[in-house]
Amino acid sequence: MPAHRLSLCKSHYIQWFETYTRRAIDKFEMIQTHEKVMVAVSGGKDSLALWHLLAGLGYETVGFYIELGIPDQGYSSNSQLKAQSFAEKIGQKLVIARVEEEMGAGIPEISKSTYRKTCSVCGLSKRHLMNRAAMDEGVDVLATGHNLDDETASLFGNMINWDIGYLGKQSPVLAENAVGLRKKIKPFCYFTEKQVAMYALLSGIDYLQQDCPHSVTATSLRYKEILNQMEHQSPGMKRRFFDRYLQNQGLFQAEQTQPELRPCARCGMPTSIEVCSYCKTVERAKCHSRESGNPVG
Ligand code: SF4
Ligand code: ZN
Repeated sequence: MPAHRLSLCKSHYIQWFETYTRRAIDKFEMIQTHEKVMVAVSGGKDSLALWHLLAGLGYETVGFYIELGIPDQGYSSNSQLKAQSFAEKIGQKLVIARVEEEMGAGIPEISKSTYRKTCSVCGLSKRHLMNRAAMDEGVDVLATGHNLDDETASLFGNMINWDIGYLGKQSPVLAENAVGLRKKIKPFCYFTEKQVAMYALLSGIDYLQQDCPHSVTATSLRYKEILNQMEHQSPGMKRRFFDRYLQNQGLFQAEQTQPELRPCARCGMPTSIEVCSYCKTVERAKCHSRESGNPVG
């Protein structure tokens, strides 16, 4: 690992990775010992490795999987299979939500009928369903497997667009809020994608190696390629980029006011507007389907 000037064998690598994760958890006060954690799992390396590690550290965990209704190349069925067999292997509960049941159609159809980008609809649905599941299950913390590549790509994109709103709030921890949204944490935020893959592989985790078919059009993938080239030429660059941003984040927070949250008039989930974006998207998809004579939901 050139960025750390370290060469480790299998057992020391696993030890190093787990110690480093525990340090991030402590540094950002991500989890208190009595808190129950819901891990959002997709069947991929990051989320299963995170679940494996947190359960191994002794935290009380429950998994949450969203069946997105993406049939291309068997993506949804393959990912669900991986998530379910992993949950069985570690003997932990897995909660499953199905987008088709919740929204009336799968993510690709909703994207078409609402004229929104697939990943944008997908992200919106995931946030809503994860928040709701965390509240329903009575957990304190919602953990996602976002790694350093995800964090720096998102930071890079927000900087290119000078999106001050996002630059003011991107963080390894988002605190719980008064209207019920649970604390959100990203314990792998300091590991590159390769480092997480290595940990998953060495720990014997059977994860889905197939990418979502829609990821090829995601802008973040292009940002990741650019950042990887820079990291190759200057090892440790991603970590510095992210660290210095966190140190200077106050610059972007000075002008910001937090929008007041209240329950959505339809679903009751916290929102800053009368009807939340999730409910509006579902409504728009249903209207479109009725007009086209192909009712959903
Ligand atoms: Fe969803 Fe896009 Fe990720 Fe696929 S690539 S899981 S559509 S956000
Ligand atoms: Zn709503």
